[in-house]
Amino acid sequence: MPVKPADKSIKTGENPAAGKPSDPLQKNTDRYCRQSLLPQIGAEGQRRLSESRVVIVGLGAMGSAAATLLVRAGIGEVVLIDRDLVELHNLQRQVLYSEEDVDRPKAVAAAEALQKANSSIKITFHTRDLNLTNAEKLLTGADLVLDGTDNLQTRFLINDVCVKHAIPWVYAGAVGTSGMVMPILPGRGPCFRCLVPELPGPGLLQTCDIAGILNTVPAFIASLECTLAFQILTGKPVTEGVKAYLIHADLWYQTFDRVAVGKRADCPCCGKGRMDFLQASSREMITSLCGRDAIQITPVAALEISLEELGERLMRLGDVRSTRYMLTFRTDTEALTVFRDGRAIIQGTKDEAKARSVYARYIGL
Ligand SMILES: [Zn+2]
Repeated sequence: MPVKPADKSIKTGENPAAGKPSDPLQKNTDRYCRQSLLPQIGAEGQRRLSESRVVIVGLGAMGSAAATLLVRAGIGEVVLIDRDLVELHNLQRQVLYSEEDVDRPKAVAAAEALQKANSSIKITFHTRDLNLTNAEKLLTGADLVLDGTDNLQTRFLINDVCVKHAIPWVYAGAVGTSGMVMPILPGRGPCFRCLVPELPGPGLLQTCDIAGILNTVPAFIASLECTLAFQILTGKPVTEGVKAYLIHADLWYQTFDRVAVGKRADCPCCGKGRMDFLQASSREMITSLCGRDAIQITPVAALEISLEELGERLMRLGDVRSTRYMLTFRTDTEALTVFRDGRAIIQGTKDEAKARSVYARYIGL
C-alpha cells in the first residue's frame, strides 16, 4: 500500500484527531475508575499519571504494546519517536498496526491508532531517528523515557541523555523467546552502563531479524516495563538503595529471574561522568556515497568482526557472499556489504535513518 500523500510531509506533529473529544469521553474519572480503585494507584496516583509526560523511543513490538498501555492508562502526554515504516512482517507482533498501515511511518500510524483509543490525552509524534544531534532536544522535558528500541547504540545514547538530565528511564529488550527489563533512576540506582559498560563487537548480539521473536515476549516485557513506569510516575520505589533489579524472563521455558545490579564506581557514564554517546567522536560516521544510491556507516571505534560467524547467521535470511575482507548480503529488498572493521555500505537507499536501521537489524549494534 502506498504512503498516503499527507504522510510524506509529516516529520513531526500532533495528531489532527487530538483535542476533539465528545463530551461523555471527558469524564475521565469514569474512564480510569478501575485503575484508581487500586490502592497502589488511587486518585492521587491517577492524577500524577495524568500530569506526566512520557517519551517512547521505538515503536516496534515493545514500543507498540507499551504505548497502548500508557495511553489507555491516562498518561497526560505520550511522545512517540520512530524512524521506520511499517512492514508486513511487523504485523505478527506490532499490535498498533494493521495491513492498511504497511509502508506508512510507524509514528504516524501509531499516533492515529492511539488517539482513537484515548482522545482525552495529548499524543505527539516524531518520524525521526533518535541520534546525538536531536536526542537532548527530544528527551529533555520528559518525566520518563521508555525503551522500545532494537539496538544498543540508541540505548547508550538514551542513557547518556537521561543520566545527564536526571530523567528516569526503563530499559527493555526482547529477542527469541526471552526478554529483559531494568528501571534506571539516575543519581539513585545503577545506569545502563553499570550493567553493560561498553558496546560489544558487532555480530555478537542477537537481533530479532536473525534470531526471530515470539510475539508473546514483547507483550510481556512491555507489561513489566509499563508497570515500572506507573510505579516511577506515582512515586513508588523501584530500586533498593543503590541496587536495581534486572528481570529476565524466558516465556517458552517459563523461567523468570531477578538479578540485583549495583551502581559501579568505575561506570564510564554515571561513575566517571563521560557522556560518550553524546559526543560525535564515539559514534559511527554516516556518509552518503556520492553518485550512488548507497550509504556508508563507519564505526569510529576500531572493531574486529567475524565475517564467517556473521555470514552463518545471515545465510538463513538471504544470499551471502564473502571474501577474506568483506561480506555481501542480499535479500529481495535490501543489500549491504560489511567489512571486518565494522564498516558497512547499505545499497539501495539515500535515507540515513533507513541505513542505520538495516545496520542495526543485521549487524546488531
Ligand atoms: Zn552507571
